This record gives sequence, C-alpha cells and structure tokens, in this order.
Amino acid sequence: MGFERFGRISFTSQTKAAAFVDYLEKEELRYTKCRTCGQAFFPPRADCASCLSSDMEWVKVADKGKLISFTRACYAPTGFEEDVPYVLAVADFNTVKVFGRLKAGISLDELQPGMDVQVKTVSLPAGQISYEFVPA
Ligand SMILES: [Zn+2]
Repeated sequence: MGFERFGRISFTSQTKAAAFVDYLEKEELRYTKCRTCGQAFFPPRADCASCLSSDMEWVKVADKGKLISFTRACYAPTGFEEDVPYVLAVADFNTVKVFGRLKAGISLDELQPGMDVQVKTVSLPAGQISYEFVPA
C-alpha cells in the first residue's frame, strides 16, 4: 500500500516514508530517527537532513505530549472546506514536535498550552486514515 490513504486528501501515492500509513493502521504514530547521527524527524523522513544518511529507524511517538500552541482555522485549502472550523495544533512529545488537528468538538476554552495531549488514529470516509490530538 502506498501513501494515498493518508489524510483526507493525499496528494501523493508514493513516498519513501509510506510505512507511516502502515503504522497508523496499527494505531501507532511513528517518526524516523537517523541511526547515524540520532536526528529525529516528524513528519518522518527517509533520509537524514543533517548527515544525509538513509539508515533510518521508525520510532513510536510517546504516549503523552504537551500542547505547545493551537489555532482555529476558519478558512481551508481545497478539499477541506467542509471541515471548517477546525483546530490545528502543535504538541511536544519530547523527541519530536507533532503538527496535527485537534479532535472535532473540543472547545477552545478547554485548551491550554502545556496541557497533556495524546494522539489517536482516526478513520476517515473512503478508507482514508489520519491522526488527531485529544486531551490526555
Ligand atoms: Zn543523520
């Protein structure tokens, strides 16, 4: 399987990091880590941007992260118009910072920078798969 199943709309079917989707199907969010220099990457990369090595390993993101920041999107790019408004967030999982959406229906009043969040796999229409943040 390729990368075409990731997200509501996937603009590419082939990538060297397609295993990301396979892990999501197992309800695991993973990043890549360079075995040569130790640099971690999220979104995952197949080749290290620091030392150019292709010797990468897949590592599971920690169970809990800290919400760093968030914003409410009221306008969306093509293909996401029906989803607005939605909340985009960045959370720190110690080794990597993860960018993603917050689960729909959570009020901004419930969010506070520094609060614990978890990542959950979410199944989308037409067999697509993604992930979202939920309060921990
Ligand atoms: Zn490296």
